[in-house]
This record gives sequence, structure tokens and C-alpha cells, in this order.
Amino acid sequence: MCAIFGISGAEEAANLTYLGLHALQHRGQEGTGIVSTNGTDPFVHKERGLVGDIFTSPVIDRLKGHTAIGHNRYSTAGGNTSENLQPVIMKSSIGWVSIAHNGNLVNASELTRKLEEEGSIFQSTADTEVILHLIAKSGERNLVTALTHALKQISGAYSLLVLNKEYLIAVRDPQGFRPLVMGEHNGKPIFASETTAFDLIGAKYQREVEPGEMVVVSLKNEFKNSSIYPFKPTPKKRCVFEQVYFARPDSIIYGSNVYQTRKKLGKRLAEEQPAKNADMVIPVPDSGVYAAIGYSEASRLPFEMGIIRSHYIGRTFIEPRQSIRDFGVKLKLNPVAETIHGKSLVVVDDSLVRGTTSKKLIQHLRNAGAREVHLRISAPPTAHPCFYGIDTPTKKELLASSNSVEEIRKFVGADTLGYLSIEGLLKVAQEKSGEGFCHACFSGDYPCLN
Ligand code: 5GP
Ligand code: SF4
Ligand code: MG
Repeated sequence: MCAIFGISGAEEAANLTYLGLHALQHRGQEGTGIVSTNGTDPFVHKERGLVGDIFTSPVIDRLKGHTAIGHNRYSTAGGNTSENLQPVIMKSSIGWVSIAHNGNLVNASELTRKLEEEGSIFQSTADTEVILHLIAKSGERNLVTALTHALKQISGAYSLLVLNKEYLIAVRDPQGFRPLVMGEHNGKPIFASETTAFDLIGAKYQREVEPGEMVVVSLKNEFKNSSIYPFKPTPKKRCVFEQVYFARPDSIIYGSNVYQTRKKLGKRLAEEQPAKNADMVIPVPDSGVYAAIGYSEASRLPFEMGIIRSHYIGRTFIEPRQSIRDFGVKLKLNPVAETIHGKSLVVVDDSLVRGTTSKKLIQHLRNAGAREVHLRISAPPTAHPCFYGIDTPTKKELLASSNSVEEIRKFVGADTLGYLSIEGLLKVAQEKSGEGFCHACFSGDYPCLN
């Protein structure tokens, strides 16, 4: 998963991009980058680390120009090395071109092999570079036609921002796997993975970039924008896991507010998976809070913050080594013994992936005196890996890929375990956003494979 942000015709384009990336830090913490331009040259800075640490005033001052794109990286395709940081930039027959990409291309390795056979030399292992090579080889002189030509050969998930000296282009793959929104800042077009980036800099949210839409902003013609739809119409497959876990709750994704959606998932979960005779609902903070509020409202059980989260460590899931992950749970989540002692708890979380967090947490809750623990998950079992840009573990590590709900309950040590159904999840997600979601990690129903 990654974040992208782009702004045109702004006095402090790089500075505003830095702020936008800051608001999107939750989508990727490995590294960050900005490419800006004044309509001639590109200015580039990419580095591993967090946005607030990397973009100091002297760095931002060097990123000149009225238009910029930026990226936060969360490694999916390609490893965690600095060559794989984005935006990628390359010189070609049509001049320099830079791309910021969120998503995963499913035919990248096949295309890379073909391009290498034909003489292309790759600088990174990230799949995004494939798009640049295809642009360079297109034989087209104009970025819009070259990009269209390149994207027609690609399948998979991409929300892209593409920049050269003439254009800022925003494009979302025909199935719309990853989110992308547009708005205006001082009357000029602006783009981001999520609306929360607009809120921070006082930009106005207008709408989604539609699946299959290419929005072209002309840097040479007063930043006017126009849309083209170069692809065959395809059923939408927007990632439902963005609504469940990934996006920030204050964002609007696919036209609906994430907080409201998560609360409704919790309500629906309470209807599908009630917990008889429980005393209270407690969330696994922070990601489980919104569904727990919904569960509490629908079940009329009191809501209590029975677990306190320390904010001074990263998300445990990201840590690469199992030993650190287990340790991280202790560091991160601590039960409030005085609140939960002797009580029967409904513990609500948004998803259960490897089960390591839940197992440790339930142990801590029991040590702190909980009488019963009824674990409720506001999503269906995560049983299949994602190939479209979310860094889920391999099938082997996914607890639900080879275990029944009862086996998972035993493994995590809960008295009862209840998941939301796929029908329930989709019903809530579709309420405001309409039909057309990817749910492959829950259903195994992959919309596009290579
Ligand atoms: P588990 O109990 O399976 O070890 O961990 C579940 C927790 O991981 C949940 O609280 C959920 O919010 C979080 N989670 C689920 N998917 C992801 C992901 O893709 N990335 C990160 N960082 N956390 C995730
Ligand atoms: Fe999202 Fe799951 Fe589909 Fe991946 S497989 S795009 S995480 S819904
Ligand atoms: Mg969580």
C-alpha cells in the first residue's frame, strides 16, 4: 500500500505536497519522495524514513516549481531499498517523465522479461518502472498518448500521478482497485489517495477520479484539466479493505466516509454475531474503535476503552521479524485491569490476519482479570493473499487460509469468535458507494490474475 499526492499551479507546490504526504503517512512509512517542476526541469528528493523527518525546510526549498507529485512507500512489489523509492523518474525520447504509483501490476514480471530481452535496463525491482519503459518505447511524442499506449499493455491495480514538463496526469486503472480523489486548491487541480490530505491544506474535495479515467492537467495552458477514458469499460473492483482497515477514518473513499462505514460494519456485526450476557464492548485500538462504537450502539452494551494503546511505536504488523512482532503487542496494547476485572468482554477488531496480535492480547486481558473474552471481527476471515497492492502475508501465514473459525478461536484463546459475513460487508460498503468491490482476500474471487 502506498500514498500518492499531486498539486498543480501552486506557489509552494513542494511544501503543500509535503503536508499532503504527512496526512497520508498511515499508507506507507518506509520512505517518501517528491518530484517538482517549474515547467522545464525536474527537482527530486527521495529518502527512506518518515515524511516529517525527511522533508526539512532546506530540502523543501530545493524542490522548486509550481507543480509537484509525491509518494509514501509501503513495500509491496520490489524490496525495501532506496532504488525502489518513488516517484520514479527517467529520461527518454520524450524528455524526463516521473511517476508515483499506488497499486500492484499483475503482469509486471512478464513485461519486464520482455522489455529486458528487447534491451531495456531496469534500475529498480519495483513494478512501476515497467510503465516508464513502456512509455519510452511507445514511439509516441506526446506524454498523454505514450502513457495511454503503455497502460493498455498493463493489467492490475494502479492509481498513478504522472508528471513531465507539460502535463500532470492522474489515472486510475479501469477496475479502480486503489482509491484516488481530486479537488481544487486556489482553483487549480489537486489529487490524493485520500481526502484527508485535502483537509489539511484547505483544498476542496470535488470527486473521485473514476476507474478508467485519465485526468490531464496542462502546465502550459493555465493548469486547465480535461478527462479522457482510454480503456474498455470494465466492472469496478474497488478495494473493500480500504473501508475496513486501510484508509483513515476521516477520509471520504468511494464517495463515503470511512468512519461512518466502519461504524455500520460494527452494527451489522452485532446483528450477525451477538454476544449473550456480555458486560461491555471494548475496541482493539485504534483500528477497532469505529466498529466497536457501532457494535456497542446496536447491542446496547456499554462502550469502554478497556485497552490503552501506546502511540510511540509503529504498527506491529509491519515489523519484519516474528520475534519483534510478539514483543510489539506488549509494548503497544495494555489492558486497564480496573475496568475489565471480572467482566465478560466483547473485544472488537477490524481484521484478523496472522492472529498473533489477538492471541497475545487475549492472554493479557485474561491476566488482567477478564472473565470471558468474545472476539468479534468487523470483516470476514482474511483467507487469501492480495495481489493488488496491500501487503498481506503469504497464504501460509494467513491464519484463515488453512483453519476453520473454531480452530482460529482455539488458537487465539477466545471464549467465542465471530466474523462479519461477506454479504454483510458488501451490503454496508455498497450502501453509499454502489456496487463494484474487490473482496478477493476474503472470498478468493480474484478479479484479475496473470
Ligand atoms: P493479528 O491479530 O492478525 O496478528 O493482527 C490483526 C491486526 O492487524 C488488526 O488489529 C488489524 O488492524 C491489523 N492489520 C490488518 N491488516 C493490516 C495490514 O495490512 N497492515 C497493518 N499494518 N496492519 C494490519
Ligand atoms: Fe483489497 Fe483484498 Fe482486493 Fe487486495 S484482495 S484489493 S486487500 S479487497
Ligand atoms: Mg489494528
